[in-house]
Order: sequence, then structure tokens, then C-alpha cells
Amino acid sequence: MLSYVPRELPDGRVAICQEHVTDSLQALMKADYMLALTSGYNIRRCLICHQYFLVKSGVHALYCEGACPHAPQYTCRQFGSYERQKELARDIPKVRVKVTAFERITKDAKRGAISKEDERRAKDYVRDKLYEALRRNDISVDDFEASVTSERIYSVLNITRTAKPRGRPKKTGGEAT
Ligand SMILES: [Zn+2]
Repeated sequence: MLSYVPRELPDGRVAICQEHVTDSLQALMKADYMLALTSGYNIRRCLICHQYFLVKSGVHALYCEGACPHAPQYTCRQFGSYERQKELARDIPKVRVKVTAFERITKDAKRGAISKEDERRAKDYVRDKLYEALRRNDISVDDFEASVTSERIYSVLNITRTAKPRGRPKKTGGEAT
């Protein structure tokens, strides 16, 4: 049951408060959750640990602030940063595969072989594959590696690498790939 009741604050002022009365903890939590939604929060699912979390609406958050299951000294949000992953690549083989895949994509974008937009799409794809591979023990490092070769990514996403980089003067010989 929900009602509005006056409550005296410590400084003597009076506030109108929402009062939820229920005999079920679950109902109370649902009410709390609905309140969060109506006061401008959104629910998201962390890309890494798959737990649900609340963010201020409008905030673009992919990761929660909880301890990351793959490296508990970091939050999921920290774990999700490229800098952190470059460090963690030494100890976590799947992260190393991901970082290498990112480097290949960056290189293709720098050479103009793929567009910026395609670079973004390709990296999002690899990122999602990484978190899936980290969560699932039945995906081996080799399986993961095979799923994020450039050929595989570009074919899944329908990205065509242009043979000749755009916007550059023609050189004799061209680039061997
Ligand atoms: Zn998380």
C-alpha cells in the first residue's frame, strides 16, 4: 500500500513522504525499483557480469560498478576500459586475443581500409564476443580467437575492406596484405 504522509525532519521542517507498507520484502523491493524508474533511473544489464544495475536516465553506461568476476580487484567499469585490458592481457589469454583483434581493426581504420563507423561496429562485436567468452567456460581461447579473426568479423558484419586506401596519393607497388 502506498500513501503520502507528513514527516517532521530533524531541523523542524515538514516533508511529505511516500510510505510503502507491505508484509512482503519482495513487494517492497518492487516498489523501491518502480520508484527508481519513475524518478529518472534506468535499468541496465552489465555487459561483463550480466547483473542488472541502475543508472541515471540518459547516462550511457555499459558496465556496473560491482567487483568484476574476471578480476575482482577492479570494478566491471574499470575492467571494461581499454587501458586496463592492455594490462590484463598478460594474465588473461582471452583478453589478450581481444586486444590483438582491436589492434588489427585500428590498423585497418588508420589505413582507410574500413570506415570509422565500421571500425566501431567491428570493435563492438569483438567486445561482446569477449565478454561472452569470459563468462562461458565452454568457449576455449582458441574458439574465441577463431571467432574474432578479421576475416570472420568483417564477413559477419558485411564490412568490405577496400584494397586501396582512400584519400591517399597512388604509390607504385601498393600495399601487400
Ligand atoms: Zn558488472
